[in-house]
Amino acid sequence: MKFDWLIIGAGYSACVLAERLATVLGQRVLIVEKRNHIGGNAYDHYNEHGILVHKYGPHIFHTKSKKVWDYLSQFTDWRPYYHQVLGVLEGKKVPIPFNLNSLYALFPPKYAEKLEGLLLENFGFGVKVPILKLRESASGDLSFLADYIYENVFLRYTMKQWGVKPEELDRGVTGRVPVYISRDNRYFQDPYQAMPKLGYTEMFNRMLDHPNIKVLLNTDYRETIDDIKFNRIVCTGPIDTFFDYMYGELPYRSLRFQFETLDRECFQEVGTVNYPNDYDITRITEQKYLSGQTSPKTTLVSEYPQAYVPGKNDPYYPILNNDNRDRLSLYLKEIEKLKGTVLFAGRLADYKYYDMDQAVVRALGLFEKEIAPALV
Ligand code: FAD
Ligand code: UDP
Repeated sequence: MKFDWLIIGAGYSACVLAERLATVLGQRVLIVEKRNHIGGNAYDHYNEHGILVHKYGPHIFHTKSKKVWDYLSQFTDWRPYYHQVLGVLEGKKVPIPFNLNSLYALFPPKYAEKLEGLLLENFGFGVKVPILKLRESASGDLSFLADYIYENVFLRYTMKQWGVKPEELDRGVTGRVPVYISRDNRYFQDPYQAMPKLGYTEMFNRMLDHPNIKVLLNTDYRETIDDIKFNRIVCTGPIDTFFDYMYGELPYRSLRFQFETLDRECFQEVGTVNYPNDYDITRITEQKYLSGQTSPKTTLVSEYPQAYVPGKNDPYYPILNNDNRDRLSLYLKEIEKLKGTVLFAGRLADYKYYDMDQAVVRALGLFEKEIAPALV
């Protein structure tokens, strides 16, 4: 059988592209995935206690994009869910992103009031201020607050997660969780926040349910590429692997996930509790908050950050800094030489810290701007 497209990987990026190619253009697609399941890192499944768990860490869907929302809504119904996170600081659990409620939970009321006044005066209500910016711009009592948040929320969490200090990373990384001058305790403020009613994997199953799409699991594309007939490739796996590491490895951080099921209905107050300062873990998530299930048992997942070692664990987080950007640009020049015969999209192929919705935006954009115009 000859395919129009070979797609490497079966995560968000691959599923969106396969679905569009098959449904809109009638193209024949073969997806080759090295894991034993589709869905990439967003894969979920029911564990032996009947609780829906996320094998590669908690995935909470949120987006500002109506286009992404409408696109995915063709394949899933949704359960409204607003994620909340508490961070353990000096033995107290306070809202993360750090907000005005966190301030009052930590400091005596008079002092919290003073700090609130300063934040409002300097930035305004409803404003989000990345911690590195707050530290640079603050003076007096605000400077104390900025240092306090930096030390207690960001420094040790980031050291655990990334092995370096916040200022050694792209500012966008800690900027994902800015200080929020507000009383809103939600982790995200996007207009669309929900979980797929039957889970992510079921949503991907529906996306790939097309006679023109075939999926080959348990297969590294490098083992089979010579035996498959196809015209073009979309790679959603790591870009450095595709080019055989010719410019060296693009580094990643990885995680080890520890699942534990308890014989009790509920373990913690909100979906995720962060432990910036204690233990080796960064956070514990209670899966039932995400799925909305009721059960006399509850499953938790703890995240242990690790270095990524090819062949030993999985590449989860691209490490965004200047050295790695320079290396990436060498690989991007190699892509140009392929003159469109191989296309790249996704968190690993673009080496970008995409959320799920951004992976969808990228894949839809590639389809609409590059693939479809050349084929119709
Ligand atoms: P992936 O999901 O990584 O898919 C790539 C696929 O390629 C994988 O299945 C891989 O096995 C396969 N592959 C790689 N090499 C080969 C090969 N040689 N041969 C065959 N197959 C190969 N986003 C959110 O929006 N909200 C969240 O709460 C959230 N939480 C996250 C938590 C963690 C711990 C992580 C790591 C990510 C999280 N994300 C979250 C981001 C989300 O996982 C990504 O945006 C999304 O999965 C990217 O999809 P992708 O298809 O680009 O990549
Ligand atoms: N972060 C932190 N303390 C926290 C939460 C986040 O230091 O309590 C920093 C840390 O560097 C983390 C980054 O902000 O890697 C982004 O956090 P986010 O929750 O967005 O990470 P993800 O869910 O992608 O792992």
